[in-house]
Amino acid sequence: MKIAIIGSGYVGLTTGACFAEVGHDVLCVDSDQAKVKSLRGGNVPFYEPGLEAMISRNVASGRLRFGESVAEAVESCLALFIAVPTPPHADGSVDLHYVEKVAREIAGTLQEYRVVVDKSTVPVRTGEKVAQTIERYSKQRAEFDVVSNPEFLREGSAIADLMNPDRIVIGASSERAIEIMKKIYEPFRTPMLITDLNSAELIKHASNSFLALKISYINMIAQICEASKADVLLVAEGMGLDRRIGRSFLQAGVGWGGSCFPKDVSAFIRIAEELGCDFRLLREAASINEQQREHFLKKIRGELWLLRDKTIGLLGLAFKNNTDDIRQSVAMSLAESFLQEGAVVRAFDPKAMAKAEQALPKLHLCASGEEVAHGADCVVVATEWEEFRDLDWLAMKKRMVSPLVFDGRNLLDRGRMAAWGFSYWGIGR
Ligand code: NAD
Repeated sequence: MKIAIIGSGYVGLTTGACFAEVGHDVLCVDSDQAKVKSLRGGNVPFYEPGLEAMISRNVASGRLRFGESVAEAVESCLALFIAVPTPPHADGSVDLHYVEKVAREIAGTLQEYRVVVDKSTVPVRTGEKVAQTIERYSKQRAEFDVVSNPEFLREGSAIADLMNPDRIVIGASSERAIEIMKKIYEPFRTPMLITDLNSAELIKHASNSFLALKISYINMIAQICEASKADVLLVAEGMGLDRRIGRSFLQAGVGWGGSCFPKDVSAFIRIAEELGCDFRLLREAASINEQQREHFLKKIRGELWLLRDKTIGLLGLAFKNNTDDIRQSVAMSLAESFLQEGAVVRAFDPKAMAKAEQALPKLHLCASGEEVAHGADCVVVATEWEEFRDLDWLAMKKRMVSPLVFDGRNLLDRGRMAAWGFSYWGIGR
């Protein structure tokens, strides 16, 4: 099947590579000329485990190529996937101008039947608007269908998530489009849920918001654990053993961030509001998330008193492990607070240093995890990179001014840290 992906970012590029991997003929298009040039030169603009090798394998086999022209995509491909950004406006609502622009561009060159598949995360009823827009701006009055196919991948494990997803959601009303979508996804051998367009769009926001809610829930339990001298790790384990609850997304921490949860939760609150529903539960989850970060900062201030002229060793800058993505990263927002309060921040992240340096030039970037400890008044773990567990913590202790560790991800072994002579604070224990 000839497939075009419009928007070659975290979602589009990885999806395109996986489609090529299962045998489709894929054209990945992006409006950013520098990005296309670098992709053509064999450079992947972000870190995702396994992606570079998958791209080069499929480029070599001729199944994956890159371009800048939506017109070329419309001309040569039967299915056109939209994977452009849907960032938030200041009020939390979704900025849909990228999606709208692509719809107009498609309309401008549409000559024969195409399936337009929305993979970007969009408010319910966006598909209807995309269809109206194509209809309005199409010169040739060619046939087309609009399908919603939300994406559930997680950065850091995107390839595994795409190749072996829990479910594939297809929102469409036309049999012709549904058959094409089934053919595209046939090689993935995964349960497919076929719904109407609006329900598919809602499934994405409802799922992401539920996961955020689950994290906020355990973070609130963590605060109760701290106040009652209980251990959130044990409480989460006890809850998670109940199959109705499940163990995943019950890791207490310094809060959720990233390019999806904060914007999707704010968007869903706004979407509900516009539909006349007050989603108080979700507003509360967002507010607990804010509070969680503040609570962690308070703990650090409680020990160090003023942060001015203190040196803070920061482990982690990406919003989660196995990615270089720093969008809405809690680690970055902690770094910003430390800097604003006058601290020197010595930071290390295995993959996100270049992006972090651009965003916060005042960071003092270190060559290794161990180096953040040099002259530090405390070390803060802000991203759950596994390798931070295996740092030479004893050597780090010798380099620190005082052996304080604030573990915002409950990554380290509390007993071992205490045995090594650290004063250790986790979350909810
Ligand atoms: P991204 O910013 O990494 O990539 C988007 C790409 O689209 C960019 O390369 C940009 O240059 C390109 N683009 C913008 N306008 C274009 C146009 N008119 N024509 C061609 N290309 C254009 O964004 P992303 O993280 O891949 O997210 C894309 C969508 O997928 C968003 O709606 C997001 O909410 C959703 N999503 C993201 C994730 C994730 O983990 N990143 C997961 C699921 C869903």
